Parts: sequence; C-alpha cells; structure tokens
Amino acid sequence: MKIVSTEGFVISTTKYSENSKILNILTKDYGLIGVISKSCMSNKNTLRTVSERFIYANFNINYKEGKLSTLISADIINYFKYIRSDINLIGYLTYLTELVADVYKQNNDIEIYKLFITSLLKIEQKLDPLVLTNILEIKYLDYLGVGLNLDGCTKCGSKNIVAISHKQGGFLCKNCYDNSGFTNKNALKTIRLYYYVDIGKISELNISNDTKMEIDNFLNHYYKDYTGLYIKSKEFLNNLKKY
Ligand SMILES: [Zn+2]
Repeated sequence: MKIVSTEGFVISTTKYSENSKILNILTKDYGLIGVISKSCMSNKNTLRTVSERFIYANFNINYKEGKLSTLISADIINYFKYIRSDINLIGYLTYLTELVADVYKQNNDIEIYKLFITSLLKIEQKLDPLVLTNILEIKYLDYLGVGLNLDGCTKCGSKNIVAISHKQGGFLCKNCYDNSGFTNKNALKTIRLYYYVDIGKISELNISNDTKMEIDNFLNHYYKDYTGLYIKSKEFLNNLKKY
C-alpha cells in the first residue's frame, strides 16, 4: 500500500455498508480503479461532495494495486457547473461517461481518458455537445478495433470519394457506390475533420445542422453494427437531440 495522488473522473458509485461508497474512478495514472470512500455519506464528512458520479478531481489515495484502494482526500479540478445546469447536457455527460468506461474496458490506453476529459472541458466551454460527442465517437473507433479508413474508398482504396456508408463500413468511391449511405460533400469532408482534429485546439464549431445530423446518424448505425457496445443512455440522448 502506498499513498498516491492522481487525476481522475468518477465513473460510478455504489453504496457500501452503512454510510460508505465504492467509487469507480478512471484515473490518469492507474487506469480504472475501485476506491472506498469511508463514511462519505454522513453529513459532516469531508469526502461527501467528492464521492459522487461525474466528479473530476485530483484524488489522494491509499493505493493497492489490483485491490480496493482507500480515498484520503480529493481536490476538484472542474465541477462542470455549466454542463450540470442543463438536462440535455447531463444526458451527454451520462452517455460519454458510459462510453469512456466501455471503451477503456476493451483497450486500456490512457489516451481514451485524455480524449474524454478534453471533450468534457470543451462542452463546459459551451461548444456544441453533439459535435464533440461525434468527434469522440469517431476517435474511439480506433481503440475499439473498428476504426474508419477516411483516406480512401473502403473497397478499393480510390481517392475519388462520393459517399460514406455504414453498411459498407466507410468511404465509397464512384465505382463502388451502391446507393447506401450519404453523399453530402460537406458531411464527407467534415467527418474526416472530426477524425483528425486535435480536440484541445478547437475554439469554435460552425457546422450546419444537415451535416451534423448525417454524421450523427452514420455514427449511430456504425456503432450499432460494428462495436458490439450497448450503451443504455444513448436512447435517452437520442430523444433529447435537437439538430
Ligand atoms: Zn472504390
């Protein structure tokens, strides 16, 4: 056992014994770990406010590798006040939290955590939550082993792209186009930008509703057909979406 300090995000919590909780924290330095927050449910306990889902903080932990660790204290880095003030944004937060946990369980690359936190910070800065969600979804496909090839036709490699199809698994050229998917030129260009953009460097997003909708629709289908992930909160989120 050793005392460590690490940045992390509380993915979920479970009540434990009378007034304690077990926090499932995705940390920057130790991956996904279980941490007991003792007596955190009693009113005067200092751990109370930091022992909640969606808390992004620096956690001081009595760390036991492969076992349950113990929370000593935590300093909140960002409370995501703006996100928490809006029911739609809480829908996104819930979905992205489940998504990052599922992706991380399949591929414990720390980049998955960094992309997630960077996206949340951009949503907190009032950038479009749907676009950021789609950007993250595209980037996560690589970590799920079903990454999109956005540099050429998925069938023949030709650069003469005219469509993208979830049925065919990516870009299609004129010769391979089978009337599936969408052909909106802006959307084809934008989906590629989504994949290559450095999220931390985004300062504004001006994407038309049609383009957003087509890309979101494509990703919904692609996730369903190729990733094997089933994320409960996605349904709820889809009902909230306003393009
Ligand atoms: Zn082709």
